[in-house]
Amino acid sequence: MFKIQHSPARLKLLAAVGILLLVSCSPEPVSTPIADTEPELSADLIIENGRLYSMAWPEPSAEGVPAASAPFSNGVWSPDAQAIAIKDGVILAIGSTSEMSEFKGSATEVVDVHGASIMPGFVDTHTHIEELGATLDDVDLKGVQTEVEAVERVVRHIAANDIPAGQWIVARGWDEGQWADRFPSHDLLSASVPNNPVLMDGMNGFGAWGNQLAMAAAGITADAQDPVGGEIIRDANGAPTGAVRNRGVALYREAVPPLSMERLENRLVNGLRIMQDSGFTAVHHAGVNTELMAAYESLASKDMLPIRVNAMISGRDKALMSQWITRGPTRFAGDKLFVQSVKGYYDGSLGARGAKLLEEYSDRPGHFGVSGEEYGFFTEEIGAMLLAGFQVNIHAIGDGGNREVLQFFRDNFAIDPEMKALRNRIEHAQVVHPDDFAVYDELDVIASVQPPFVAEDKVWTVDRIGLDRAAGAYAWRTFRRHNVPLVFGSDLMGYDWSIFYGLHSAITRQSTDSQPPGGWFPEEKLTAEETIRGYTVNASYANFTENETGMLKEGMWADITVLDQDVFATVAQDPAHLLDGKVLMTIVGGDVVYRQ
Ligand SMILES: [Zn+2]
Repeated sequence: MFKIQHSPARLKLLAAVGILLLVSCSPEPVSTPIADTEPELSADLIIENGRLYSMAWPEPSAEGVPAASAPFSNGVWSPDAQAIAIKDGVILAIGSTSEMSEFKGSATEVVDVHGASIMPGFVDTHTHIEELGATLDDVDLKGVQTEVEAVERVVRHIAANDIPAGQWIVARGWDEGQWADRFPSHDLLSASVPNNPVLMDGMNGFGAWGNQLAMAAAGITADAQDPVGGEIIRDANGAPTGAVRNRGVALYREAVPPLSMERLENRLVNGLRIMQDSGFTAVHHAGVNTELMAAYESLASKDMLPIRVNAMISGRDKALMSQWITRGPTRFAGDKLFVQSVKGYYDGSLGARGAKLLEEYSDRPGHFGVSGEEYGFFTEEIGAMLLAGFQVNIHAIGDGGNREVLQFFRDNFAIDPEMKALRNRIEHAQVVHPDDFAVYDELDVIASVQPPFVAEDKVWTVDRIGLDRAAGAYAWRTFRRHNVPLVFGSDLMGYDWSIFYGLHSAITRQSTDSQPPGGWFPEEKLTAEETIRGYTVNASYANFTENETGMLKEGMWADITVLDQDVFATVAQDPAHLLDGKVLMTIVGGDVVYRQ
């Protein structure tokens, strides 16, 4: 009924008007017009005067050429609608602003977005939400230059949040590299914070210091032995100063008691709210342990999850895995929480030379990285999760790690071919041997990649693996040529989760300073359409919700992100401007959860 029938001339006019409005457009609620007569079907919410891209057309070719029916002609993308009407959490219709006005009733809220773009809700498919939420209740020490400044931040935090005596304070983010020769002692911290144990954790996990109460709780005393791989720093008399190096950090971390359920729930909600404000309508949480899962279930039962969460069961938590084998894959009431997948951990990271390579590291002869069972991968238990019908998403970074994980899938599929339909994923899929792209396709494995890795890792990738292997690294176009679905995420907190940063990284393969010119291995760049699909349509497929969300189409969930810029138009003009983009609104199941 509401097919969009703009004449080409009108579309061009719309496009021109939209571009003019890109400069300043923020959605303002408009007073509801009084309808003369109530429409038969009245919407709860109408968003109008936008540049709507439904993404509800077929996929582009493996080379990124848009489908014949895509709203693309003469090399120019045009929005396929202007407005969207929402009722009861689902999309009632999309079309022109005047077409949608038919659904304006006396109770309809109307938002004029003045030429902003209306997109399917974005999904970050690889996150660690508890770490993001922790940034709000822990003390942030990023950027502190002196010990005095660091201690002051802790004192202010305790006062501002009325933290009771005895409760642990975790502060993190001081730069161990910069402070390598001047690790503080406990004295100032102990004197300034006498009533709460405090851990001052470094930004890279290689150094920490604590106050007197924290030292006592961590067993950091004159008699304490240095832990294997770590050091308790001591003064001239052999007494610990309160500072520790390397594995010594674990002494403090292990002394911090687990959070209460209430604080854990708070932390998750805080993390999800940051994502909601960043334009995401759903996240996939890569590795949820027993405590976090209990918090998610509790939040879901109270309807307190602001956005949708695909909570992957941690493949390191054997008790949780066996519990879920009994329960089976579950979509919780309210469609906010999905527990239907497991996160396996197969090898380490490339930066730290832990990723498993087929040939030795270019910058460390004789070293191949670590993987498999000695790295905490439970072959048997994760195989049992596949058998129980769970999607299995395995972290694999090196070409050796990727090959071994593909073999793991192949071995299991031989037991029961139905496992192949579980939309299994390899997380990161970072360095892949040229022969193995076809194996991804053969085994129907999704490549879950994080575009920001290219922007940041490119400075050392060639050192680690050399030029030849780098050509098969972050090889997104090659994946597309092999028919492998790509889903995109950030792997926050390690990398910034801004959707604009993610889009920019995938489309340009450059860092934010536009380096290197033309992009790093530019033949692997993706188009704007392919990248948006990785964050929307494909992300929904990976969550088994492609019939409910991921595109804007009548009857689907009203999961929508409104951006102040038209990504397609920006990329056509100058993709560097993607980085100036802003999220204006986030809508989840028809609820406006964020409005700038
Ligand atoms: Zn991760």
